[in-house]
Formats: sequence, C-alpha cells, structure tokens
Amino acid sequence: MRLRLAGIALFLPVPVVLVLFTRLPLGVATSLACGVALMLTHRLYARPWALARAERRCLWCAGGVRAGTSLALRDPFGAGAWTACSEAHASRLRSVFGWAARHARLLQVGVLGSLASFLLAVPLASWLTSHPTAAQADASALFRLAIALTVLPFALLAPRAAPDHGASLSVPFPVHIQALIGSAAVLWLLRLVGTLWLCLGLWHVATRLGLSALTGTHAIGHTRMATESAVTIAGSHPFSTGNDTCLVHNGSLSNHNRLRETLRRHGERFQTENDTEVAAAYLSWRVRSGDTLKEALEHSLDDLDGFYTFVVGTRDGFAVLRDPIACKPAVMAETDAWVGFGSEFRALAALPGIETARIWEPAPATVYAWSRS
Ligand SMILES: [Zn+2]
Repeated sequence: MRLRLAGIALFLPVPVVLVLFTRLPLGVATSLACGVALMLTHRLYARPWALARAERRCLWCAGGVRAGTSLALRDPFGAGAWTACSEAHASRLRSVFGWAARHARLLQVGVLGSLASFLLAVPLASWLTSHPTAAQADASALFRLAIALTVLPFALLAPRAAPDHGASLSVPFPVHIQALIGSAAVLWLLRLVGTLWLCLGLWHVATRLGLSALTGTHAIGHTRMATESAVTIAGSHPFSTGNDTCLVHNGSLSNHNRLRETLRRHGERFQTENDTEVAAAYLSWRVRSGDTLKEALEHSLDDLDGFYTFVVGTRDGFAVLRDPIACKPAVMAETDAWVGFGSEFRALAALPGIETARIWEPAPATVYAWSRS
C-alpha cells in the first residue's frame, strides 16, 4: 500500500503540469515556466524510483510481484527490464506497447508536436494579439483537442491489439510514468481525460463559431470527386458568386472557358479556373439581371453545355436542375415537413419520415424549385 501511495504521489506532477499549461493559474510566464521545469525534472526522481522497483511491481496493475514475467522495453530514456505479475498482465502490456511501437510517429507528433506548438502559441498569443485571453483559450482548446485525438485511439485500441512478442519493444513514451501507477490506471486516465478534453475542445470551437446561435431552413453538403480541375480547397463546393447564392454541381461543363470570358465582360469576377464557378457566376449574373432563380436555371439549359446536376441554395429556398441527358444520378424526397435531395438514396435514408416520403428521380431539363415563403 505504501508503494502504491508513493507511486501516486510521484505521478501527481503530471496532472499538475497539465493544469499549469491549460489553465495558466499563475499567469502565462510563471505557469509555463513552472510547468516546463516540473516536466523536465520529473524523470530525475520518478525514473530512478520506478526502475529500482521494476522487479517488485507489476507494470500493468502496480501490484506486488513474487515470481513474475520479465519484459524488456526500450523507451526514449533507455532500455530497462520491467515485470508483470502474471502472464495475463504481461500479454496486456505486450498488446499496449506493441500498438504504441507500431504507431510511434502518431503518438510522438500528436503529443510532442502539440505540446511544442502550444508552448510556442501561448506566449506569442499574449504578446502579439490584441485579445490575449481569447487567443490563449483558443490555443488551450486546440491543444486539448490534439492531445485527445492522439491519446483516445491509443487508450481505446491498444489494449485490444494482438500482443507483440518481440524480444525488446521500442516504446515511444517514458515507461517509468506508466510504472508509477500502473499502465492500466494510466489508460483509464487517458480515456477519461481524453474524453473530457475532446468535449471541452469541441465545445470551445462550437462556442467560438457561435454554432448555438445558428438557425436555418436548408443546407447543402457535398463530397467532391474532382475530375476536371485541380484537387484544391479552391475547387471545393459549394461555389458562391452572388450575395446569397451557392451552387453544388455534379458533372462537367464543356463551354466554361468561353462563358467565363463573356461573364467577365458582364462584370462577374472569378477566383478559380473551375467550371462550377462559371455556372454559379452565370446564375448570379442572371438573377442580377432580373431573372428569378427558376428563370435563371431555365436559361442555363440554353447556355451551359455539358453534364450537370445542379443544387442551388439561396436565402429563401433551393432548386434542382439536371441537364437534358441527365446521366448524373439524382433522387428527391418530399414530405409535408421537408424536401431532400441526394445523388444517392443513402444520403436521404436516415431522414425522419423517409418511409412515407414521396420519392422520385428528377426529370431531365426540368427545374424544381422550393421557396421558404
Ligand atoms: Zn499485474
């Protein structure tokens, strides 16, 4: 029991460092300095203590060992012989450390990379931004998210992995920290803190983006398989060229270069070479010239060459149009409560009331338009 308490006491600097980093209770400079000092000095006393008891304590459960199984492990501070109290606990350690060895890069970049970025970002945010508290909170939230996204896969997947029976495993993190309270307890802490930090980080991002205040009546989601233009963020849909018009397009336009020049002469501006942006600009130009959205889409049947299924969202509604050949898939569903569109039915399959919805394939060269009013 005394050994367990001593191990817990020696483990305590770890959560203290995390509190110092993420909550900055002593101000930015002092908190970070104390945290780094605690972190760097921890192994000077914790590692010798753990190594001196490595043959008497189980690395998995931190219980006492009489005749255990020996495990040779190499970590960033050197090689060491550790012990498990039973073959079952040795097997769990081989699973966890084997997974860690196979995912060493993920763990190193996820933990050390996040920590280094965070330790750089917090002082910079304090000195360079006009709202240091908000910038520090952002840095803390991103740090928590990055750590959570690194340790949760480890804590959840590693114990289920097949045991690695290699003669000496290379572990990418200090084993002595696990030895202080036992790997099993460390994994539980990682699951709990990882989940908490994931929630706190996501909550912070949602609050900063004001997601709770957002309301709406319609939304467009899109996954792009680029065939005609570069795979860049600039090519991502939807394209928005008017004040409240956005367009998602499945297909390709063959006359977009000529049309782009015509539209430029009419005052439309372009940011990419993407054909979909030309279609969006065409609709914006038509609406600006006095067309309704339905009329603009009907005109596009004359002026746009190529294959397309368009979904257009405006402030007041949305519309769907397929080209006269209609080779791109499309399916629509409608109930008294909502209208849905997808390239495949699976996009609509989870909607409430889909069992009784009217479902149909939009006809070629026909504009379907819905308005909120
Ligand atoms: Zn054990």
